[in-house]
Amino acid sequence: MGDLFEFHVTATDGAARTGAISTPRGQIRTPAFMPVGTAATVKAMLPESVAATGADILLGNTYHLMLRPTAERIARLGGLHAFMNWTGPILTDSGGFQVMSLADLRKLTEEGVTFRSHVDGSKHVLSPERSMEIQKLLGSDIVMCFDECPALPATRDRIAESMRLSMRWADRSKTAFGDRPGHALFGIQQGGLERDFREESADALKAIGFDGYAVGGLAVGEGQEAMFACLDYAPAMLPQDKPRYLMGVGKPDDIVGAVKRGIDMMDCVLPSRSGRTGQAWTRMGQINIKNARHADDPRPLDADCSCPACRSYSRAYLHHVFRAGEMISGMLLTWHNLHYYQELMAGMRAAIAEGRFAGFEADFHARRADGDIEPL
Ligand SMILES: [Zn+2]
Repeated sequence: MGDLFEFHVTATDGAARTGAISTPRGQIRTPAFMPVGTAATVKAMLPESVAATGADILLGNTYHLMLRPTAERIARLGGLHAFMNWTGPILTDSGGFQVMSLADLRKLTEEGVTFRSHVDGSKHVLSPERSMEIQKLLGSDIVMCFDECPALPATRDRIAESMRLSMRWADRSKTAFGDRPGHALFGIQQGGLERDFREESADALKAIGFDGYAVGGLAVGEGQEAMFACLDYAPAMLPQDKPRYLMGVGKPDDIVGAVKRGIDMMDCVLPSRSGRTGQAWTRMGQINIKNARHADDPRPLDADCSCPACRSYSRAYLHHVFRAGEMISGMLLTWHNLHYYQELMAGMRAAIAEGRFAGFEADFHARRADGDIEPL
């Protein structure tokens, strides 16, 4: 394995593309779905189980880790990979999005954001420089620029002001990141649903120069139709030869639509979070295991799924352990959901490589439209 960060597209089908990102910690097959390990764990899963689902890379959250157990403590203990027992690549977000959504008493200035911890009320500062320092202490393989984004809808003035601040912060992030072979820094395109601002943002980022580019500021309340309309033009504004990452997306149909529009990487808490609330994502759509129709059903969740939950347990058992509040409920459903997401990615990679993405997409929607198997 080389010691460089490199991206190669091996096939395209329409705007969709497949390939791989090489990193010193291993290869990331694209399009890639990154499970979220917020607090140095993908909840209810052992790291080796996450790898067994087919995940090549995890996402860690700077905001949560800087507050508890702190980036300095993780660095003293050998970095995030050793700390959480995950040897593959890790991408960390910048903390910018979560500090705006989770922290108390935020104060936003040109310098950065001052806030109080939602855990213990302690005071902290996040700036481009501090975010780069924290992500370096964590040992992140893919580091994200520190940015800011408004919830949508927002006025054009607010979107422009926020985007231009994020571009100044992107420049400061690049300077603070420095030269770190084998580690990548991604810029984040902003601009809401305003095409001219997306263009201005892309131009600003390209002038600075990054190892990859995220489409940021989507999946913040605008709805799928508006998000797809933006993805019809936004990814094409970014360099063809670098990975494109859509942050915080999404449901399976969002993911298929994003890949169709040229996205290479995505992350979302949905498969793991849903697993803990009794929701299963399958080829047939979303299944609520709490529903009484499953109580006497000896069939697996999905007879064609090879995950442990589907291979060895019935719908009746999954229904029972959820109702009884047993921990294995979250473990099995999370495993199934992550397995399904990774199968979906593998299916899209194969379809793009073989030039049949349109057929794959049609089958995906047709199977979901049929819905769940009939009750017994
Ligand atoms: Zn399964």
